[in-house]
Amino acid sequence: MNRLKPFAYFEPTTLPEAIEILAAKKGAAFPLAGGTDLLVRMKRGVIKPSTIVNLKRIEGLDQIKKEPGRGVRIGALATFSAIEDSHLLRLSHPVIAQAVSVLACPSIRNLATMGGNIGRASPASDAAPFLMILGATVSLKGPQGERELGMGEIFSGPGTTASRPAEAITSLLLPDMASHSGAAYLKIGRREGMDCALAGVAALVTFSGGKREAEDTKIALSAVAPVPMRAKKAEKTILSGRLTEKCIREAAKVASEEISPVSDMRASASYRREVVRVLTYRALMTALQQAREG
Ligand SMILES: Cc1cc2nc3c(=O)[nH]c(=O)nc-3n(C[C@H](O)[C@H](O)[C@H](O)COP(=O)(O)OP(=O)(O)OC[C@H]3O[C@@H](n4cnc5c(N)ncnc54)[C@H](O)[C@@H]3O)c2cc1C
Repeated sequence: MNRLKPFAYFEPTTLPEAIEILAAKKGAAFPLAGGTDLLVRMKRGVIKPSTIVNLKRIEGLDQIKKEPGRGVRIGALATFSAIEDSHLLRLSHPVIAQAVSVLACPSIRNLATMGGNIGRASPASDAAPFLMILGATVSLKGPQGERELGMGEIFSGPGTTASRPAEAITSLLLPDMASHSGAAYLKIGRREGMDCALAGVAALVTFSGGKREAEDTKIALSAVAPVPMRAKKAEKTILSGRLTEKCIREAAKVASEEISPVSDMRASASYRREVVRVLTYRALMTALQQAREG
């Protein structure tokens, strides 16, 4: 770890003020949320921002609230602990508490935020897969106003988002889940706790009235491509016929073939393919069971 290089530090109390500072610094300023990623990269000398804009004093950015008729809105500054403990989210999107419980450890979750996780755009993000299967949209605010991006559009490459200069992520909107649906997130790291995924799989199954064919299926993966991705070929396999165990087994195989994993210090590419096959099968079977139970 290096000694931090000097940097200008701002603590705005309103969003317009934060955006004004980010815009004035023309891309040289970084927003700070929980700091669990940004400060680590600064200490390692990976990035050397000249300006830090701490967003934590901006009121309301950490709220988790129901938007009647639309879903649940999670503020960008909501910590993963708050998300995990949210009674509202446990009722509306139970997969989130289950997924967040395997993200890092409680002390990191007490600081790390949803906005920071998306802003970091890590290929191994644990939040991206469940946000993708739930059809979340990301709200951004910048000098040119507000806009929304789908989870399929937000990542532009490893470590980069499609945000424009001086734009900050303000919240995420999760549409309500259909009644006959189930979802699960499974990940494997090198050790049980406190490790980034060497592969992560989120799966959603929604039934039509007859409960034999899936009306909708979504599968999203992390740590197996330059950005978190949907396994669209595997999804098509599920939607093309009756939802049997054999069909799920086939979809899991298709998912393992449509990824582009790398070999690195965490795992080899071939091991990642095998992990994706096994986790996709398990996540789909869990989601299927939950969906059947309604
Ligand atoms: C020990 C350890 C274990 C970890 N384990 C995991 C894990 O298991 N799974 C996982 O997914 N991650 C893990 N992480 C990574 C990190 O904790 C998460 O990515 C976390 O969600 C980052 O959130 P933060 O609020 O701390 O972001 P920060 O560190 O404050 O910021 C991260 C990046 O996002 C930008 N940013 C922050 N907020 C915004 C915003 N509102 N709008 C635009 N840009 C923004 C920052 O400028 C920075 O580039 C781990 C980190 C550590 C140190």
